[in-house]
Amino acid sequence: MADELLPTADSLALVLADVRRYLGWHRDVAGDELHAATDGAPGALSAPVSVQVTVEGSSTPPVVVEYAEVPGEATAPDEAPKLDEVRRALGDCKRCKLCSGRKNLVFGVGHPRAKLVFVGEGPGAEEDNQGIPFVGAAGQLLTRMIAAMGYTRDEVYICNVVKCRPPGNRNPEPDEIESCQPFLEAQLDAIRPSVIVALGKFAAQTLLRTDTPITRLRGQWREYVGVPLMPTFHPAYLLRNPAEKKAAWADLQAVMARFPKPVA
Ligand code: URA
Repeated sequence: MADELLPTADSLALVLADVRRYLGWHRDVAGDELHAATDGAPGALSAPVSVQVTVEGSSTPPVVVEYAEVPGEATAPDEAPKLDEVRRALGDCKRCKLCSGRKNLVFGVGHPRAKLVFVGEGPGAEEDNQGIPFVGAAGQLLTRMIAAMGYTRDEVYICNVVKCRPPGNRNPEPDEIESCQPFLEAQLDAIRPSVIVALGKFAAQTLLRTDTPITRLRGQWREYVGVPLMPTFHPAYLLRNPAEKKAAWADLQAVMARFPKPVA
């Protein structure tokens, strides 16, 4: 075989890294489809994102976020809040009843200008203890899913629909979601991601303002104020239903195909 037809050590290393990332997530997913195709459309988002800190039809008073210009960041719209300003506006939040049971408010973690954002439901016990989203069992699976996509947690942004733990890990209630929604929207506005992955029913239904079940939403591209959004199953659901990991992996592959990770 001519030398030029042999794979180089570099290309073999890349393939092995991909396989390792995938296997790091889970072995029972995806069969032969070990890695996403990366021949999709380029990942840049050109659509502008508008600031939204009130929820239409909501009884929650508008949230006041102090906007500041971002010196030297030509791509950031002047009216967009910065993430730390959104955090400051949230403050020691007592806007809903979840505040009474929380140890820590769990705002979000990751890169303030991440291209890829994951939105979950709400903190569990471990997240409440640490003040960091997705650090418990479901979080460990999410971390492996992120790694399988070729990212570290530091390179993406992770947050939840509600920022305080619902007692006993019950579902967040509509008034709690409504109180937190302006802050989630302001976070997304500040980050201006290229793509959002909505993890589970509450993230998908809240951002898309729909009551369509997640089983019907998942795997279909949608838009959140101009930003492509992929709904998929929540990692906690995947822990209970491992057979669905294959579907979730297909959803993540669709994200990777449409928004390949930029080469550093
Ligand atoms: N589940 C979520 O939706 N969010 C977390 O932060 C942890 C578990």
